[in-house]
Formats: sequence, structure tokens, C-alpha cells
Amino acid sequence: MLVVMQSHATEPQIRAVCERIESLGLKAHPIPGALRTAIGITGNKGALDLGVLESLPGVIECIPVSKPYKLVSRDVKEEDTILRIPTPSGDVLFGGKHVGLVGGPCAVETEEQCFTTAEGVKKAGVKLFRGGAYKPRTSPYSFQGLGEDGLKILAQVRKHYGLGIITEAIDNESLDLVEEYADVIQIGARNMQNFSLLKRAGRAKKPILLKRGMSATLDEFLMAAEYVLSEGNYNVMLCERGVRTFADHSRNTLDLTIIPAVKKRSHLPILVDPSHGTGKRHKVLPLSRAAAAVGADGLLIEVHHAPDQALSDGMQSILPTELAELVDEVRQIAAVLHREVN
Ligand code: PEP
Ligand code: MN
Repeated sequence: MLVVMQSHATEPQIRAVCERIESLGLKAHPIPGALRTAIGITGNKGALDLGVLESLPGVIECIPVSKPYKLVSRDVKEEDTILRIPTPSGDVLFGGKHVGLVGGPCAVETEEQCFTTAEGVKKAGVKLFRGGAYKPRTSPYSFQGLGEDGLKILAQVRKHYGLGIITEAIDNESLDLVEEYADVIQIGARNMQNFSLLKRAGRAKKPILLKRGMSATLDEFLMAAEYVLSEGNYNVMLCERGVRTFADHSRNTLDLTIIPAVKKRSHLPILVDPSHGTGKRHKVLPLSRAAAAVGADGLLIEVHHAPDQALSDGMQSILPTELAELVDEVRQIAAVLHREVN
């Protein structure tokens, strides 16, 4: 259910409606828009009789939301959400006319590896550095990440290069720590339906980068984001990272068709990760161009200073110099669509 407020509704009127909703044992989510505020209601088990709300001052109407997701839906917020991520080198924006860039290695391996890669990432004009300290690996015998030591290296990268940090949390325990160190918390594909982790992410003080599960439908993807928003964290960006198909020429099949589909249904920004989406280094540049052309709000690119020695995902990692070329081309493609890369 959605309560639509008049464009000139006052703050006290909005607050009064929220209080009335909460007094019914429900949760109110006021979502300000360019023209008006809408208040999403969650927590109801069945249909609601909201005649009482419609009669409150400042309310235009109450409309049922037929889709399974509410807060992520364009019904609640017509215009694009623009996420602003502050970094020591300035803000990075995702959504609207802004295309944000993220680069870095799959895993934090050593300080030297991160520093060398970070230098190249910065030179390429990218302000957000992503590296995993907790790695959800298919095999228990593969490199699992450095844990908190990895987070400490990321803190050094932040300090020395002025880059914002994105890193993954794989469970509630690691999220507690990641929240302290990161500018953005990543929830990976394998955890897209880890509902207790999603709820914990919804109570985090940092924005969330939510990756699509490797066989998740559009609705499942949006419902996973809904979990985070329903707990009060509205700073969520989505990320398409490829899905499982019969194709064996690439690690995953990058589903670029989901970008316009998400944009039709949701106000949240959606990024593309062509590294996991293809698993092959030579496909990263062409698919980055395509992602920009199809309207992605950002790109997440795996970069390593020595990809052949990487402890994870070296096959799909590009060199920092190749990242610079990619950024240049993506900037030109985005400009055709009147969008700015940052
Ligand atoms: C990653 O970002 O390195 C990663 C493990 O990605 P995904 O969750 O998309 O597989
Ligand atoms: Mn990876």
C-alpha cells in the first residue's frame, strides 16, 4: 500500500501520517520525490482498510501496490534514485544522468598488489576501489581472503590514494567489520537470497551494492533489494553480473536485457559487472561499451597489476592501463546518451 501526499503537504502532515501508520502496528517509509512524497507501508499481512489514512490532512490517496515489491518500485518513487558516495577524492554518483565507475582486484592479496593496482585505478580516473577481503569461493580449498587484515590494507589504500572502498560481506559477522571499513558494502551473487544477511544490510549505516544471483529472476532480484529497503536502508544499487546458461564460451551470460527491465520497474541504480559476466578478459571492454550503451548506471571492473598471478579471477582481470582505455571509451559512449561518467 502506498499513501500519496499532496505536493504541498507539510513536514508535520507527513509525520502525522507516518505516526498513524505506525500506531496500526505497521512500518512507514516516507520516500521524498521531486513532486511529492509517497509513504510506503510494509508489515501488513493482508489487505488493509486505509480509509482512515485517506482522510488525514495532506493525503491525496491510498493506492494498493499490486507488485510483490513496493519500496524499490517506481510506483513509490517515479524518478531515478541517485546514489552519492562520498570518497576522499570527491563524490561518486550512480543513477540519473550519472554513470559511476568501480575498479579493483577480485581479492585483496597483499599491500603491494593493492597499492600498485590502486595507483592504476586512480590514474584511470576511477574513484572507487573494490577488493574482497572475504571471498565466497566455490571450493573450500581456494583462497578465502585475508579477512580483517585485508580490510586494513583497504584502509591503507583509502588513506594513501584517496579512493573510496567497496568490499564484500559474506555473513552477519563479516558485515559488522566491513561496515566499519567500507564506503559501500557488497552483497555477492551467492548471498542474494541470504535473507538474514539482507536484513542486517538493511540496518547498516553504509550503502549496499547488491549483486544478482546467478539464476535469479528479475522479481527475485528486486525482492532481495526490497529486503534491504524494508529495514530502512534506502541506499541500494543493483548489479548485473551474468547468469547461468547453456553457453560454454563464457563463464556466465551477461544479461544486459535486465537493465531496461529494471529501469522500467525500479528507481534504483543498476550497475554492470562485465568481468564476472563473461569471465574472459578480452570480453570486458566490448561488454563495458555495450553496458554503457544500454543505460547502465555504473560499471564494476576487475583490475589486477599482474592478472596471471592473481589468487582469484585473474582470467577476467584487466590491467590498469586497459582500464584507462575502457574509461575513455565508456565516457564517449555515455556522452552520446547525455550522461556523465564519474
Ligand atoms: C566478486 O565480486 O568478486 C564476486 C565474487 O562476485 P559475484 O558475487 O558476482 O560472483
Ligand atoms: Mn571476482
